[in-house]
Amino acid sequence: MIRRRFTAILLPLGLAVATLTAGGTAAQSQLPMQSPINVTPGAIKFDPHQPRLNVAYGHSELELEYVRKDAADPAGCTTRHHEETEEAVVTPGAGHVTVAGVRYELEQFHFHTPSEHRFAGHADPLEMHFVHRSAAGRLLVIGVPLRAGTPSTVDTVLATLAPECGSPVAIHDVDLKSLLPSNLSTLRYNGSLTTYPFSEDVQWFLTAELTVSQATITRFQSLFTTGNGRPTQPLNHRPVTAVPHL
Ligand SMILES: [Zn+2]
Repeated sequence: MIRRRFTAILLPLGLAVATLTAGGTAAQSQLPMQSPINVTPGAIKFDPHQPRLNVAYGHSELELEYVRKDAADPAGCTTRHHEETEEAVVTPGAGHVTVAGVRYELEQFHFHTPSEHRFAGHADPLEMHFVHRSAAGRLLVIGVPLRAGTPSTVDTVLATLAPECGSPVAIHDVDLKSLLPSNLSTLRYNGSLTTYPFSEDVQWFLTAELTVSQATITRFQSLFTTGNGRPTQPLNHRPVTAVPHL
């Protein structure tokens, strides 16, 4: 395991200095609004008046690629780093969401094991993150927990995992909408990237779980045997808003 220490990261306004440690499995940050979080029932506020999450996902070609974080390591090709993952890059324009009149383009989705977000302390075997970006550069991530059960489109996406040092895997004509649960009720909060540089002002939308075969879960866990998720971070009194999809 490579450990890297990042010190004296200047925040955009130059008002604060934070020391970030991006190593081991205990990556912690002194920034106040970090992800992932453990969603405790007492933190949830119900608000049906929040703007609707409108999902416009079509069909896409996918390139499943291995995201490397240890390219400088001579043994990197066979070393799993906890911030590495399998990432499916979507065709530009194939999917977007709109919230409060702002459009966010779907760029990629990727996987963590175990799930990064927890619900009353409960982790799922996998979690998918759909990363969207607005024209102004603001990020919106939809997090979907995955549990063992009926096979789904996720099984198609993860049928062949991309090698760390090798070619991406092309997947033809994937119905992106089928990668989200049909019920788009969400838990929403403001957080951060869960990998370095842990940038904040990321809008998180957490959905109900989707199922995937146990074989696919096992395949992914066999690649990342020590996991590729970040531990939960302090909530610091942030509201978590439950928004029904009406
Ligand atoms: Zn992620």
